[in-house]
Amino acid sequence: MNVYKFGGASIADADKIKNVNNIIKECGNDLIVIVSALGKTTNKLEELLRFFLIGDNAGMRETITDLYEAHNKITTELSLEKSITSHLFSSLDDMVFGCSLGNRQSHDYDFWYDAIVSFGELLSSTIVNEYLLTQNINSALVDVRSVLITDNKHRDANVNNDISQLKFNQMLEATAGVDVRVTQGFIAASADGETTTLGREGSDYSAALMAVLSKSSCLTIWKDVNGVLNADPRYYSDATLIPQLNYHDAVELAYSGAQVIHPKTIKPLYNNNIQLRVRSFINRENAGSIINGDHSSIDIPIIVVKHNQILLTITPNNFSFVLEDSFEKIFALANSHRQKVNMVQNSAVSISMVIDNSRYFDEFINTLRQYYKVAYNDKMELVTVRGDFKTDKANTMIGRERIGYKIYLSQHTRRLVRLLRRKI
Ligand code: ADP
Ligand code: ASP
Ligand code: MG
Repeated sequence: MNVYKFGGASIADADKIKNVNNIIKECGNDLIVIVSALGKTTNKLEELLRFFLIGDNAGMRETITDLYEAHNKITTELSLEKSITSHLFSSLDDMVFGCSLGNRQSHDYDFWYDAIVSFGELLSSTIVNEYLLTQNINSALVDVRSVLITDNKHRDANVNNDISQLKFNQMLEATAGVDVRVTQGFIAASADGETTTLGREGSDYSAALMAVLSKSSCLTIWKDVNGVLNADPRYYSDATLIPQLNYHDAVELAYSGAQVIHPKTIKPLYNNNIQLRVRSFINRENAGSIINGDHSSIDIPIIVVKHNQILLTITPNNFSFVLEDSFEKIFALANSHRQKVNMVQNSAVSISMVIDNSRYFDEFINTLRQYYKVAYNDKMELVTVRGDFKTDKANTMIGRERIGYKIYLSQHTRRLVRLLRRKI
């Protein structure tokens, strides 16, 4: 069995969905296809959620109409019946317009986020599956919420591997004889049947989980770039393809913030020795990048820039030394407030922490301030260069990144340099 993942960019319009059909046809049988929401649908659904939470009916109507029109345009161009998505649009309509204020308030933001934003993947998977059927592919739509079972941590749910394996096996049996199973990335369900999600951009991770459950030896994620490059080509025009990487380099790259692979993707693949291929859905003749356990560390330096970072400086109120106890407490608080900690540095009397700016930030510092003095700077960028710093290439690369910026923190290890910077 093979697993393919198609992200939003690869199914953004009718022609791209036709291209997906061609790719699948080349692969043959026994395939699991994971899809994200079409194009930028997830952002649009986040807008809908905002209107829903403030009870703005006009805003909700307008957003749903835009979503409806965008999806209908694609179904029409693919010569599919508009009615294939009607049941989903009616459920979405019922959910947001049929919800009383009391009911809305009985659940938190994260619950509603998952309930509403998950429609993006439900819609896209329905359209892709219906199109494949018209192209004589023996495919079936699988609702991934009957397979990937998680806890109730909405927006960042943790998958229960054992139950999911059981459910996956049941799904295989129920769809025996089918060649291509089309399902949703990003979304899942809790044991009590509520929709959950695995984190923004999480479809790569869903695909890795499905590769494990299906005992595949390879996962291919199809992107709008030729593979993993040594920099984001949107910002670095000289970015070059890295044909082979080991899991270690790939996980460092993903955790440093390279958008091309979701950070949670590598661990399940590494643990199960599953090869990851990152390939272009545009240049299919290009072999892309292969990530597995076979390769030695890459010699070309890689750069990753993570935007919208916050530098927090935490000092004890009583000026006592920052001891291990404080570390434990601060990290536990960060974890319980869903903070993604990207860099840490300590001195005798303070801890500096670099975190993603997120909607959970204010609550986190309010809690921290009950115990510590806290100062912060926002609008920072975290630059990571991974490479061999005995060579000029890596040193030139990091040197360039300092120009025009004030550096707030820097860390050097044998193969890694990180700079926290802000434009002067
Ligand atoms: P998906 O369609 O699967 O969601 P993404 O948009 O999340 O795909 O990932 C692809 C994008 O990642 C590319 O368009 C590229 O701009 C960006 N990117 C960032 N860093 C890298 C890198 N090191 N190599 C390749 N692409 C990168
Ligand atoms: N559609 C989701 C998002 O945009 C998941 C994904 O694309 O991976 O975040
Ligand atoms: Mg993505």
